[in-house]
Amino acid sequence: MLQGEQDIYANTPNWFYYWRKGGVVSDLETYDFRFATSTPQGHEVRYGRFEPPSGLYVGPLAGSPQTVNHTFQNKYYNTKLTTGENGINDSLIFPAQNYWNVPRQPDDAILIPKDYGEPHAVAIVPGDDGILYTQPWPDDQRIQIDGVWVITTGADGILNISDWAKDPRDRYMKYVYDGREVEMGLGRGRPGTIAIAPGIDGWLDLYWYPGGDDQVMEDANNLQDLRLNHSYVASWDALEVCAITCVHELEHKRHHDDRTAAQQAHPGMIVDLDDDTVITINEGEDHYFLNCYIRDTYDVASELGNPDYSYYGDSEFLCRMSEMNYSDPNGLVTEGKIGPQQDWSKGGRQWRKY
Ligand SMILES: [Zn+2]
Repeated sequence: MLQGEQDIYANTPNWFYYWRKGGVVSDLETYDFRFATSTPQGHEVRYGRFEPPSGLYVGPLAGSPQTVNHTFQNKYYNTKLTTGENGINDSLIFPAQNYWNVPRQPDDAILIPKDYGEPHAVAIVPGDDGILYTQPWPDDQRIQIDGVWVITTGADGILNISDWAKDPRDRYMKYVYDGREVEMGLGRGRPGTIAIAPGIDGWLDLYWYPGGDDQVMEDANNLQDLRLNHSYVASWDALEVCAITCVHELEHKRHHDDRTAAQQAHPGMIVDLDDDTVITINEGEDHYFLNCYIRDTYDVASELGNPDYSYYGDSEFLCRMSEMNYSDPNGLVTEGKIGPQQDWSKGGRQWRKY
């Protein structure tokens, strides 16, 4: 080992030494990737990590085979937001203001304001005897529907009657939500009501993400539209995983560098409205229909089971797509950095030749 190399190769696995030192995965040396199980900032490194401004790392799993099988679906185009199980709209749309290079103004229809539910939804119904005993209070209303007296949520869409004020002979209304029966209760509204609908442009322009337990309508997703559905399906050997990890982390770095450059070119302006590290002009119809107001357009956080991605899901989505060498005309084309014929490692494709 040469002078000065100890720091780079101390406590690293053989595969990292060979693949970097031998130029097998040329990005490792070109971009000075280091092997680490955690970064100096304390983040765990599993496959890889980009630590701004320039730290590039691969971790122990970058040297093992990997299979992925996911479909990423755009959750915020031609769909609607519902109040979720609690029946209350917990979400805001993005404030309409003039920003640098804004592609469109938020124009969503707010059907139910934040912190409210569906007005006059049935909340308390009579028991077996068909007679309603509970008195409405405070803004809940007693009305007759098809000859039956019921209590509704009133104008605010929230059931305000507390348990002690409800006559035990009456019962709370039950609604089917997400395949289950959900009972109305104090402080709740009708579950699954549409709260926010997109304007004519089709984009749902929430303020970064749905709030509380609000949900986008899954059945509104167009599964046939290939602009909005992207497969992430592959089976890679260890060498490929290492190469792909480099591609992925370099893509994160590119997003970061693009944002820094845009910020320097436009001082005092917001270049990344949703703060997901993908700048606003790189989101939109030409870019996988990424939503410039929403951090995780494809809900990568849920699909991949990592809540961290809710903060920078659009960046993560693009990095995953770069792994696929995607050739979708709407997509970014990233040249793969894979050279399996060069694999020198023990058990690798060249091993027996030496
Ligand atoms: Zn990533």
